[in-house]
Amino acid sequence: MQNWDLIGHSWAVDYLRHSTATGRGAHAYLFAGATGIGKALLALRLAQRLVCETNGPDPCLVCRACKRVEHGNHPDVRWSSLAQQSAESKEDTKSRELKIDTVRAWQHDIDMRPYEAARRVFVLDDANTLTEQAANALLKTLEEPPPYAVLILIAQGAGDLLPTVVSRCRVLKLRPVGRSLIAAALIQRFNVSSGDAELLAAWSGGRIGWAIRLLDQPELIEQQQARLDVLAELQAAGHVARLKWAEERAKEYRSDHEVVSDWLTLWQSWWRDILLLGAHCGDAITHLDRREDLQVLASATSLADAQRFLTRLDTARQQLADNVNPQLALEHLVLHLP
Ligand SMILES: [Zn+2]
Repeated sequence: MQNWDLIGHSWAVDYLRHSTATGRGAHAYLFAGATGIGKALLALRLAQRLVCETNGPDPCLVCRACKRVEHGNHPDVRWSSLAQQSAESKEDTKSRELKIDTVRAWQHDIDMRPYEAARRVFVLDDANTLTEQAANALLKTLEEPPPYAVLILIAQGAGDLLPTVVSRCRVLKLRPVGRSLIAAALIQRFNVSSGDAELLAAWSGGRIGWAIRLLDQPELIEQQQARLDVLAELQAAGHVARLKWAEERAKEYRSDHEVVSDWLTLWQSWWRDILLLGAHCGDAITHLDRREDLQVLASATSLADAQRFLTRLDTARQQLADNVNPQLALEHLVLHLP
């Protein structure tokens, strides 16, 4: 598996190498999985493999075609995404949905025959954010793309996509990669010390892209540690401090939903660790560097209480998605902290 460079997902690479080499490649793929897991890299490598001048089972990465795909300027490879839609649109730069106009522009381009390669590859990233109208407009193209075209949809999970879209694609679902593989890659490729690599691998939840992002932006590690300190203190804090935390998060939520979602995700990982330690499964915990503090909490908390609070965290997340008043939802949460 030369040159695909993916950490994990060898079954997916094997499958794509084999099916494209034996003429049984699909006309439409759907790569689904969590953010940072490797979907976009897999799509990039498949695009390179399909237009590579060597036409072997692996992209060569050194021919002009491979290089142009890598740099995003191959005329037969088109990459659309929310970011690209925002960059091209003047009035609405903050849309969280892929619109029908984006799909139409994509379809218009698909009708053009290849300029240089034997094939044309169309990648639609963020496909989980397609509006229903846009998704419906896409169906016909997915059903009968021109013979030279290969379509690759990328989605964070396939749950939000219309079943009619999913059923027209060959679906490759990328699952979280094992910690040891991620830690080994961080040590080999990025020269990370083994202690840091293990911690990052645990934090990454099987998403190498997330670990690499933390390496690139060490301030994110500091931010995460600072947040964990706050959450740990909240445990021992009285009602006033807890309510103040809820008020601050609710304020943040009004300007940026993602920040609060990150807080809740972090808190969930914290409580999952408490649950794991309580159940004597300490090898699987995420916050390896806080094992002692977590162990103390696990000893003081029943499994049922830990489980109940995890459920409350889920509920709070759902309430926010359902537009419940954020301060009410978060206050309710912190007041039930075990
Ligand atoms: Zn090449």
